[in-house]
Amino acid sequence: MSVYGAILAGGTGSRMTNHSIPKQFIELKNKPIIIRTIERMLSSNCFDKLFIAIHTDYTEYLKDLLKENNIPDNKIYITNGGKERIDSIRNVMKAIKDNGAEYNDVIITHDAVRPFISKRIIEDSIKAVNEFGACVAVVPAVDTMYVLDNNEYISSFPDRKTLFNGQAPDSFKFGILDDALNKLTEEEAKIITGTVQICAAKGYKIKTIKGDYTNIKITTENDLSIAEGILRELETNESLCINK
Ligand code: C5P
Repeated sequence: MSVYGAILAGGTGSRMTNHSIPKQFIELKNKPIIIRTIERMLSSNCFDKLFIAIHTDYTEYLKDLLKENNIPDNKIYITNGGKERIDSIRNVMKAIKDNGAEYNDVIITHDAVRPFISKRIIEDSIKAVNEFGACVAVVPAVDTMYVLDNNEYISSFPDRKTLFNGQAPDSFKFGILDDALNKLTEEEAKIITGTVQICAAKGYKIKTIKGDYTNIKITTENDLSIAEGILRELETNESLCINK
């Protein structure tokens, strides 16, 4: 059984307006976010191969960054991102399939902009995929959640005990994600954003594994300050960094 990592980095970061480059290339303490994500995944020693889906305008840029940061290229495969996230997933799945993936191989899809993924999360994901076929990292919702009518008045108060924030990675047996993607209709593809939704839409059950509140997705300017704080904390306790 092989374990493939799929880092989705095909976005161009339209919500981070203060920067001229996509958010995955912004530096977090002198190192681009995507390089931190790649290093973290490689240092887990869990992956046979790491595929990266990147917008074609940034392929050469990424290759230069990999060299500058001395990332060994023996496990790295670069493929084209797509217009939407789901198109990037399709492209990376095709690249992995062309590489000879088999039904029971594990694919761990992760966002380039979540640089604090841990070895523990990766190992738990692989275990859960082998046992249940598909899984995603989640954390319990901490805020009280409301459902609004017309985005204005509160219409109901869902029970927080049943609510969780979905993180990444989303992980699957290769054959399950491949099957679900093949069966997805154009209409479904238009409204689906998360990778687990693809499998759930086709009737596959998704197990959850424990994520981590530090495993944040860097989306807005404010997230960058939070990420700097997390990085400081992880660097003061190196054992936290990889083994947590
Ligand atoms: O836009 P959002 O924050 O949801 O993006 C999550 C991840 O998906 C990012 O790492 C982004 O680069 C990736 N993505 C992609 N292809 C797209 C859009 C987003 O790989 N077309």
